[in-house]
Amino acid sequence: MPQKRKIWFKGQIMPAEDAQISVLSPTAQFGLNVFEGIRGYWNADSADVFLFRLDDHLDRLFASCRLIGLDCPYAPDEIRQAIIQVIHENDYHADLAVRATLFVDGEGTWHSSTPVEMFVAPIAKPRRDVTNDAGLRACVSTWRRIDDLSMPPRVKAGANYINGRYAHLEAKAAGYDLPILLDSDGKVSEGAGSCVMLVRDGMLITPPTSGSILESITRDTLLQLVQATDMPTEVRVVDRSELYLADEIFLCGSAAELTPITGIDRFMVGDGRMGPVTRALLAAYLDIADGTDPAHPTWRTGVWLTEDNA
Ligand code: PMP
Repeated sequence: MPQKRKIWFKGQIMPAEDAQISVLSPTAQFGLNVFEGIRGYWNADSADVFLFRLDDHLDRLFASCRLIGLDCPYAPDEIRQAIIQVIHENDYHADLAVRATLFVDGEGTWHSSTPVEMFVAPIAKPRRDVTNDAGLRACVSTWRRIDDLSMPPRVKAGANYINGRYAHLEAKAAGYDLPILLDSDGKVSEGAGSCVMLVRDGMLITPPTSGSILESITRDTLLQLVQATDMPTEVRVVDRSELYLADEIFLCGSAAELTPITGIDRFMVGDGRMGPVTRALLAAYLDIADGTDPAHPTWRTGVWLTEDNA
């Protein structure tokens, strides 16, 4: 029998099913929360799980709090410790993902701001297999991405995902795997839970952070990795028709890692399989994230590492 998943909830470790919040809370009634999804990668040689760019995720969580008007009651180091503690309690020695969510409990309405509480929930989540060529088929959604004048997409708020939900439901109903959304100017924005990158004529192209996207940590990682090579990159406004002419398209994000898009609307992308740039970047990302490649040590936080085995 697999053991029950334990979460960190309001300062205590408990089975997920025992955690309770008020049905009259702003979070339950109006979807008020901010959160982060953080990947952890198991490295057998180091016998450790490495959390990818944990401090950058914490910085973004605090930025989300600031904009949405929530005072986080925890210091970054307390959240870091809660994340590490809950992985220990679940005894994960495997690839995983951790969700750290700040929410508002107690009876309240959409503009209530207290009490801010937190849960941290890890789940086993294997990494993408680099040798798997298969990609997903996407469509350009008729729904537009929320924008900075209404619901800032750089805030990682649960409610923002309702925009992605409309697009996702539409894509599935039309027989596609997922949507890519345009911004309010009709330019390529992002996926429902990931950023978009394309490769055309040997160049990596992605929309800017002012293009109604989340300021993605994976996107930043990949841009840094490519900019250290001789492959040109363009961070700029992207037209919809460029998607149809791209040699490769992939989504990137903590959940998506790098997910090849091998069909877009009625067009096949490349030869309909994961392209060489996508594959090389996925491999480079995973090698750095799991500690196989010692580059960028500050991007990794060991979970099991102690001073004895460091
Ligand atoms: N855009 C959206 C809407 C997302 O939900 C995510 C996932 N967090 C991303 C982009 C990718 O961000 P990151 O690389 O920081 O996970």
